[in-house]
Amino acid sequence: MTTIRFQSHAPITHFEVRDQCLYLGSQPVTDLVAQVGQTPVYIYDRAVITKRIVSLRKQLPDACRIHYAVKANPMPQLLDHISNLVDGLDVASAGELDLLMRAGIDAGRVSFAGPGKRNDELADALRARITVNIESERELDVLIQLGRQEGIKPRVAIRVNPPFQLRASGMKMGGGPQQFGIDSENVPALLDRMKHLDIEFIGFHIFTGSQNLNVRAICEAQELTVKLAAELAVHAPSPVQLLNIGGGLGVPYFDDEADLDVGVIGKNLAKLLPQINAAMPNASVALELGRYLVAEAGVYVCRVIDRKISRGKVFLITDGGLHHHLAASGNFGQVIRKNYPVLVANKIGSKQSEKASVVGPLCTPLDLLADNMRMSVAAPGDLIAVFQSGAYGRSASPLGFLSHPHPAELLV
Ligand SMILES: *Cc1c(COP(=O)(O)O)cnc(C)c1O
Repeated sequence: MTTIRFQSHAPITHFEVRDQCLYLGSQPVTDLVAQVGQTPVYIYDRAVITKRIVSLRKQLPDACRIHYAVKANPMPQLLDHISNLVDGLDVASAGELDLLMRAGIDAGRVSFAGPGKRNDELADALRARITVNIESERELDVLIQLGRQEGIKPRVAIRVNPPFQLRASGMKMGGGPQQFGIDSENVPALLDRMKHLDIEFIGFHIFTGSQNLNVRAICEAQELTVKLAAELAVHAPSPVQLLNIGGGLGVPYFDDEADLDVGVIGKNLAKLLPQINAAMPNASVALELGRYLVAEAGVYVCRVIDRKISRGKVFLITDGGLHHHLAASGNFGQVIRKNYPVLVANKIGSKQSEKASVVGPLCTPLDLLADNMRMSVAAPGDLIAVFQSGAYGRSASPLGFLSHPHPAELLV
């Protein structure tokens, strides 16, 4: 592997570079693009995903399970690959559930979370016999009624909205008023009610936030999560089988961010296990991760169509942009726009470099993939690579905007 250096982004160490060209899955990106027959294309490297998960497992206690949040990247071939590496898979819609069922994934490994589950989605989940993390009492009532009609006992876990949040998170999804989960103070009464219902009670799902690079904040949230789950478990209608403590593990996207030290999180979880075992002796513990497993394995590749100098500023105008990669354009939840790691993929480390802005073909100044970044001097035909693009890329982008061709996807 080669260390790819940037001016102020963390170096990227999991890909190879030969003759100034980026390699993915041991093939030059120029060949891969020719094989696909088009740019832009998202390319995911399966070996990088495997290494990431193997390394994570080594740093977590053996008893800790790893779940994959499908919404981070639902590409079918990637799901096939990752389902052999993780213990569970979490979906956020009946559409994602359908992808897993087509891939032949065992229902016992699947759970479904997300606010506003429609009745038809709850029916799909019931028939597939997956676990539903209920986020309201309505969802429970619908499941019970459907369960009676179909003669199937619903598998139910409760998504709890805790009274605390994961501080320093990119996205906060617990604490205070939330559309997610059931407020923790209302959970004991709900558990009491469940004692009289014909359901299989699975356990708790407590998710506090996302994209966090602060190890201390993650450990604190996990401690509070375990304490809350132990208090709630006293009221459970049957032994807790699964405690999903959420995830939130972030990846470095921007200047001056660094990879998380997961070893510290693993040690902290090892310290929490006796507490979990004491309060919930039958429970497995699961971490639910999306981007941490797949983001670094993916690269978005587009081609320079035009090079323009406007009043002294260099613009590389590409066939890719915001419509394919909303997150890299800075419009997927970032407060202040920052650059992803971006470079000229067929001229890495060239002696001739310059500051350039990489833009797309859309009629909006928001269509920006890199703003004033130092990179090799590029011309029409050259390839631009946006790293850290394996999660929340294609499926999280407004592909229909301006009716340009959609990006291809390739797993190598
Ligand atoms: C989005 C989401 C995840 C995955 O988040 P990442 O930041 O990609 O790890 C996990 N669990 C739930 C409930 C989510 O909504």
